[in-house]
Amino acid sequence: MLGGTFDPPHWGHLWLAELARVQLKLDQVLFLPVGEPVHKIGQQITAVSHRLQMVSLAIRNKPNFVLDTTDCDRPPPHSTVTLLPLLCQAHANAKFWLLIGGDSLQDLPTWNQPEQLIAQCRLGVLLRPGVEIDWAYLETAVPGSKTAVDTLIGPTLSISATAIRNWVRQGHEPNYLVPTAVSDYIQRNQLYREKTANP
Ligand code: ATP
Repeated sequence: MLGGTFDPPHWGHLWLAELARVQLKLDQVLFLPVGEPVHKIGQQITAVSHRLQMVSLAIRNKPNFVLDTTDCDRPPPHSTVTLLPLLCQAHANAKFWLLIGGDSLQDLPTWNQPEQLIAQCRLGVLLRPGVEIDWAYLETAVPGSKTAVDTLIGPTLSISATAIRNWVRQGHEPNYLVPTAVSDYIQRNQLYREKTANP
């Protein structure tokens, strides 16, 4: 499970998915765009229809990467702990990892029922530069979290969707930060430009 806002999907997401696919020997990585991210309430988010299209373009021709709309098709509130049982129903007998960057791991104590979450799945984590994980704090706040983590090993890409949106807003093109098809989509639909941002 790779949940995210994907506003837009970028190479950092794909790299996280690919490292996890190889190192955790995953059959599939489910890309799960969230409808209304609980941690981004109050922020302007691009329409889910655009984000779904961009994720499809980002993962096209990659048979192990699958767009899953379970999360954005259901009514809010959206949280991973309530999403997981739905995915377990759809993929009987599957073992699940939640794939996250180190920034998300650091926020784990603020998630909805984190202890219940890690009782149901493991965490595949790619630590991101500039984010130091306070393992002692994490373990105190969410007992069991340290041993629930499988750390992914590899180079990291220090790009974020926020940085890409800002870059485009300043009038630049997002080439080489996102797959070409996503970059073309952003330009064709004038996403993230000052006047038409977040249509
Ligand atoms: P934003 O900047 O809008 O918060 P984001 O780039 O962090 O977005 P999200 O869609 O919010 O992307 O993140 C989905 C997941 O992907 C999160 O767990 C996040 O940590 C992870 N992620 C995002 N960018 C990277 C990256 N460059 N390397 C590793 N993981 C990443």
